[in-house]
Amino acid sequence: MTIRHSAGSYEVDFCSLGEAISRLPADSIYLTDENVEALYRKALPPSAQVLTVPAGEASKSIGQWAELQSRLAQWKAGRKTSLVAFGGGVIGDLAGFVAATYMRGVPLYQIPTTVLAQVDSSVGGKVGIDLPEGKNLVGAFYPPRTVAICTETLATLSDREFSNGMAEVWKYGFILDSALCDSIRQTGSLREPGAIDPIVRRCIELKKQVVEEDEFETKGERAKLNFGHTVGHAVEKLTGYGPVLHGEAISIGMVVEAQIGEAIGLSEPGMRATVEESLRSQGLPTTSVVLRDVDMLIETMLLDKKASGGRLAFSLLTSIGACKLVEDVPISDVRGVLERL
Ligand code: NAD
Ligand code: ZN
Repeated sequence: MTIRHSAGSYEVDFCSLGEAISRLPADSIYLTDENVEALYRKALPPSAQVLTVPAGEASKSIGQWAELQSRLAQWKAGRKTSLVAFGGGVIGDLAGFVAATYMRGVPLYQIPTTVLAQVDSSVGGKVGIDLPEGKNLVGAFYPPRTVAICTETLATLSDREFSNGMAEVWKYGFILDSALCDSIRQTGSLREPGAIDPIVRRCIELKKQVVEEDEFETKGERAKLNFGHTVGHAVEKLTGYGPVLHGEAISIGMVVEAQIGEAIGLSEPGMRATVEESLRSQGLPTTSVVLRDVDMLIETMLLDKKASGGRLAFSLLTSIGACKLVEDVPISDVRGVLERL
């Protein structure tokens, strides 16, 4: 599958991990985390140069970014040295930002190894790191040379991480493709080898359509992907980033935002029930204690980098498989929904 962008295009290849690695430039430097290294170091060439960071969001920091730049310089990496992001979304974002900035940009290859990274973060060119003041506040649009989707790597994910990524999969179905929701429901065990492959492929097709239409998130198309994220980001922040994973937070957010859609008369009645039931069947949480502090939640949403001028923007469902960006949902309506939850 080819993804077009303003400066060219790149391929998303569906292949085995062995094939993906064999196609990379021989002098590539791999960036990975400790968990992925422990599981997959043996799949890399024995002589490969590997930079390994601790697993988890904390590695998406300025400190880690600076450390990696120095390591590349010490290893005498040049402008043609390729950097391979081999891991989940944390590694994709971090390695991507390192690649975008080292010597003003070196070739980047993505081998995403979580459901979330395969269906979402590895495609679309957004890379970045966090600041103590907030997540993803420093970054760039930096497309990779290729993305290799090796679904065999998903076999080693914990059930919790697998479901976490499935939240984003359901999101694509809810906002863009009701048939995708049906195929998730009809696929018996998604963890059987190969069972998730057509679902991952469909999600990437949907993301391709959106990012090709609105690469730099200026036309409102890409912002549609934020269904569940206005509330979800606030849940992540109020729980201190960590106890509730990103997909879990947006699962909770999608339920609340489906209810907001119904409350303002945009969504068909019953939308929230369908969303909630689907996510619960996936083993995802659909509520959180932080939803009880309505003032705090609204204040946190208004402070989000995507909120502006005291207005709350939501991507809301019109039906299952269709959505609309609503940029100024009255705060009184949001409050009403939260107080009745
Ligand atoms: P992650 O990278 O932290 O991976 C989750 C956990 O799974 C980690 O502990 C990791 O070590 C482990 N892991 C990774 N691959 C594994 C495998 N194959 N087997 C076993 N364990 C494995 O988190 P994530 O959920 O993949 O990504 C979240 C990040 O993605 C966030 O930082 C978020 O901001 C970012 N993101 C970016 C975009 C984008 O467009 N750039 C979009 C969505 C999310
Ligand atoms: Zn997300």
